[in-house]
Amino acid sequence: MPEVTIIGGGLAGSEAAWQLAGRGIPVRLYEMRPHTMTPAHRTDRLAEIVCSNSLGADGTSSPAGILKRELRSLGSLILRCADESRVPAGKALAVDREVFAALVTERIESSPLITVVREECTTLPQGPVIVAAGPLMAPALAEELKAMAGSAYLSFFDAIAPVVTSDSIDMTRAYRKGRWGQEGDYINCPLDRERYEAFVTALVAAERVLPHDFEDSPSWFEGCLPVEVMAGRGKDTLRFGPMRPVGLPEPGTDREPYAVVQLRQDNREGTLYNLVGFQTSLRWGEQERVFRMIPGLEPGSASCTGTSTSTRPQCSTPASASGTDGGTSSSPVRSPALRGTWRARPWGASPPPA
Ligand SMILES: Cc1cc2nc3c(=O)[nH]c(=O)nc-3n(C[C@H](O)[C@H](O)[C@H](O)COP(=O)(O)OP(=O)(O)OC[C@H]3O[C@@H](n4cnc5c(N)ncnc54)[C@H](O)[C@@H]3O)c2cc1C
Repeated sequence: MPEVTIIGGGLAGSEAAWQLAGRGIPVRLYEMRPHTMTPAHRTDRLAEIVCSNSLGADGTSSPAGILKRELRSLGSLILRCADESRVPAGKALAVDREVFAALVTERIESSPLITVVREECTTLPQGPVIVAAGPLMAPALAEELKAMAGSAYLSFFDAIAPVVTSDSIDMTRAYRKGRWGQEGDYINCPLDRERYEAFVTALVAAERVLPHDFEDSPSWFEGCLPVEVMAGRGKDTLRFGPMRPVGLPEPGTDREPYAVVQLRQDNREGTLYNLVGFQTSLRWGEQERVFRMIPGLEPGSASCTGTSTSTRPQCSTPASASGTDGGTSSSPVRSPALRGTWRARPWGASPPPA
C-alpha cells in the first residue's frame, strides 16, 4: 500500500493515522499548527480539544457509550488517551484536554510509520488522501473542496464554551451533587425563580457575535444549540434543558431548586470547570456580565469565600482567552465561522453583516 496523506492532525486525523500505521501502512500527516493557527486552537498539539472536554456518555446503555466500547476494542488511540486523561464527570467520559492532547501527540510522533509534517496543505495532494481538517479547515483547502463539491455541500459547526476557575466558585452558594444521587462530580449553582427569569432575560438581550436576526437560519445544529438561542425559544426552555434541576435537591433538603447551572471539571488538577451545556456566541464582555449573574459565580461571591475574583468565562478562541472581545470581528468572512455558535452553514454562503 502506498503512503497515505492525511490532512489535519485533530482527533479524526490522529486516529486515522494511528489505525493505518497499526496496519503497516505509512502515513504522512499534515498539521498546519503552530505555523498557521486556527482561531480556536491555542497549541501546537495534535488532537487539541477546543470546546467541551466531554466526549459524551460512557456506559453501554447509550449509543455513544456503545460506540466507545467498539472503538476501544478496535484499539482506538483517541479512546486510550481519553481513558488515561480522564477527569471525574459522572457517567460521561471527560478528559483533561492538556494531558489528552499531549498523550496523542507523543504517541503519533513516536510512531515509526507516521511522518508528521507541520505545514498547511493548500491543495489536495496526489495519491490516497484523507481530509480530516475539521470545521476550521484553512481557507485555501476549503476553497478547493468547495470548487469540487459545490458550496451547498460544505457546512461548518462552531461554538465557544465558557470555563471558570475553581477558586472563584463560591461554594457557600454552589453545592456538589450528581443527578439522582450519582457521585458528586458536578458543582451545581442553584437559581430561584426570580434569578432564573432575570438571567434568561439578560441572556436573550445580550450582544452576540452573530446578529440576532441571523439565528432565523433553519440550519442550527439542534443537538448543541447556543444557550442564548435556547433561552430565546421560551422562558422555560433552559430549565427543561441544560438548567434542569431534577434529581439535584439542595443539600440537606429534598427540595429541588427552580433551575440549576452545572459545572463540570475541565482539567485533572480541578482548577477549571466548564458550564455544562453553555456553548455560546455572546461577546466576551457580555459573557462575563451575564454569566456572573449565576449564583456562585457572581463577582461579589469571591469576597464571601475569600478567594480570588477570577470568575471569568474563558473561551476557546485565542482572542477571547486573552481577554479581548471574542466577538469583535476583524474579518467579515471568517469571524462568523470562527466565533459563531454551533450551526451549519454552507461555506459559500454570505456572512451576516458585521
Ligand atoms: C470552536 C469549536 C467548538 C467545538 N465544540 C465542540 C464540542 O463541544 N463538542 C464536540 O463534540 N465537538 C465540538 N466541536 C467540533 C470539533 O471540532 C470536533 O468535535 C472535533 O474537534 C473534530 O475533530 P476533527 O479532527 O474533525 O477536527 P479538528 O480537531 O478541528 O482537527 C482538524 C485539524 O486540521 C488542521 N488543519 C486545518 N486545515 C488544515 C490544512 N489545510 N492543512 C493542514 N492542517 C489543517 C487544524 O489545525 C486542526 O488541527 C467544536 C468545533 C469548534 C471549531
